Amino acid sequence: MLGVPREVDQKAIKDAFRALALKYHPDRNKEPGVEERFKEIAEAYAVLSDPAKRKEYDAGGFAGVAGFSPQDLFGGIDFEDIFGGLNFDFGGGWFDRFFRRRAGPPRGANLEVDLLVPLQRVVTGGTEPVRITRPQTCPSCHGSGAKPGTTPRVCVNCDGTGQQKRSRREGKGNVLIQQITTCPVCNGKGKIVDQLCPQCSGRGEVEREETLTVNIPVGVEEGMALRIPGHGMPAPVPNGAAGDFFVVVRTAPDPRFERSGADLYREETIEVADAVLGTTVAVPTLETPARVTIPPATQPDEVLRLRGKGLPEFGGGRRGDIYLRIRVRIPERLTANERALYEQLRAVRHARSRTTVH
Ligand SMILES: [Zn+2]
Ligand SMILES: [Zn+2]
Repeated sequence: MLGVPREVDQKAIKDAFRALALKYHPDRNKEPGVEERFKEIAEAYAVLSDPAKRKEYDAGGFAGVAGFSPQDLFGGIDFEDIFGGLNFDFGGGWFDRFFRRRAGPPRGANLEVDLLVPLQRVVTGGTEPVRITRPQTCPSCHGSGAKPGTTPRVCVNCDGTGQQKRSRREGKGNVLIQQITTCPVCNGKGKIVDQLCPQCSGRGEVEREETLTVNIPVGVEEGMALRIPGHGMPAPVPNGAAGDFFVVVRTAPDPRFERSGADLYREETIEVADAVLGTTVAVPTLETPARVTIPPATQPDEVLRLRGKGLPEFGGGRRGDIYLRIRVRIPERLTANERALYEQLRAVRHARSRTTVH
């Protein structure tokens, strides 16, 4: 399932899992069905990376390990080791997210914000502050909306279900039609608050501004979502867990380069004579400027590569490259002297091509 042969060593399994998990992690990949795929991959890794489970798998396939609980499966895996430096919560909260979420009270919705990350930060990694305003469970009433010391009463109209059911029989077959609507008396809450909480006016939540510190991993990729657990929307029910906050990395525009993965692209414009004769140019890099040799007879749109001068690859030691696309500037205004020289040059070229043809 991980696309690795059965005999491969643990390191290869880990690398394969890491690559797939990064590709299919639902924080980064929004394709439909990706969460299921991610679970399969994680399960496959859990089995393949543990010799005992592997034995049961080799004997009985996935049926052999179907009885394991998520904790049994993943308990022995050091996700920090695999995803070190990345803010994905592959640790404790990871089970909750993928395997236990259905149980327990509903969680708050996740929030997402874009963060512009300059290239220099991609190189070094480090922390960036993110200011967010989000509703938070009211600290006075803990989300109930009721004045502290009072208790909301159960809505008698819906018996606390928040739904109103109407049934009627219809048509020839006397078919029972049941219509479910939100209870109009309690607006679907199931409870009625007589004395509103003064701090939140009965809303159960208050707006709060806070500054979060986001840990930007070295080589962070465009579109990568960094997760800050528990800083999303408050739970829809009192005492429920808040959702998560996702910071989506957007590479800040840079006047020097365009980013493509770990590679950087730049256009360098040179004079006609420099393209013909060759030259050296000073090219900005992420560190000190580089002297780059433009070889003689460089053609327009030719691309030169500055190996290893790009961004660090996420999760690996390698660095990308800088690609220089060469533009050749055709002069628009010539002095009399320059015009004379170009005409002389043309005459020489024409004379030479006549000699070579005949
Ligand atoms: Zn309140
Ligand atoms: Zn009701």
